[in-house]
Amino acid sequence: MFDRYNRRISYLRISVTDRCNLRCIYCMPPRGVPLHPRDGILSYEEIVRIVEEAARLGISKIRLTGGEPLVRKNIDHLILYLKNIKGVKEVALTTNGVLLSKMAVDLRQAGLDRINISLDTLDPEKYRTLTGSSDLDKVLEGIEATLKAGFKNTKLNMVLIPDINLGCVEKMEEFCREKGLLFQRINHYFLNELLTTQQNYEAERPLPCEQCNRIRLTADGKLKPCLFSDREYPVDLKDITSSLQEAIINKPEHGMRCTVRGNWEIGG
Ligand code: SAM
Ligand code: SF4
Repeated sequence: MFDRYNRRISYLRISVTDRCNLRCIYCMPPRGVPLHPRDGILSYEEIVRIVEEAARLGISKIRLTGGEPLVRKNIDHLILYLKNIKGVKEVALTTNGVLLSKMAVDLRQAGLDRINISLDTLDPEKYRTLTGSSDLDKVLEGIEATLKAGFKNTKLNMVLIPDINLGCVEKMEEFCREKGLLFQRINHYFLNELLTTQQNYEAERPLPCEQCNRIRLTADGKLKPCLFSDREYPVDLKDITSSLQEAIINKPEHGMRCTVRGNWEIGG
């Protein structure tokens, strides 16, 4: 389906949980966040029903994100269901990688097509500063496990944070070259500040608004047509198609700011 500005919307990003096992400084406030009650989030069955309708409207790519998608129980079951939906050509996942070493084989077997791993530095001290955790080794094991499980086109996402990791870019690039990973730099953004299309540093994300082909679904069942907007539309499970159409039709031409949610709830 096309939006009002002639953009073909073919990509749905689904935040399957707002819970996370890290506390990245650019994503979550340091003192923690109020979480949605577990019974307030969409069940796998509901997500599958939404994706079935979305696929009828021309959505062909799904990305599971979070919070941290791998902390949600049996995520491989959801992937298996999504892969069986007619019209869904690709199911991808974005993860912080901490739980990947245990799960890569199951994810592959469920049919997951691609994985993006978020890692901003290879320096344990900087990793701790950025994520509040000392799990860097686990992430590195997760990367190895992903490669071993046979995933192709695995991408490493690096958020560029001035004063912390800009000096790490070259090393990260080299690491990706060695491992055969794709490398994607993300400009650090503040959701609640006016979006500037001018990039601070050379980076592949965020995309310019005119190229945006995506909508988002939050764990608590709201459709967000734009990351940088407060607009959101609850999914009416009795009329999912109309809810999706409403969100797509109301996709703003340009992002501005989002004041009602944080990154950890929307999934980047
Ligand atoms: N927990 C998973 C992870 O970290 O990959 C998935 C959710 S996370 C919100 C999705 C992506 O958003 C990650 O690549 C993360 O680095 C990025 N992200 C989060 N906050 C950001 C910010 N303020 N600016 C730029 N990217 C951000
Ligand atoms: Fe968690 Fe991902 Fe946000 Fe980091 S960026 S706090 S890993 S949701």
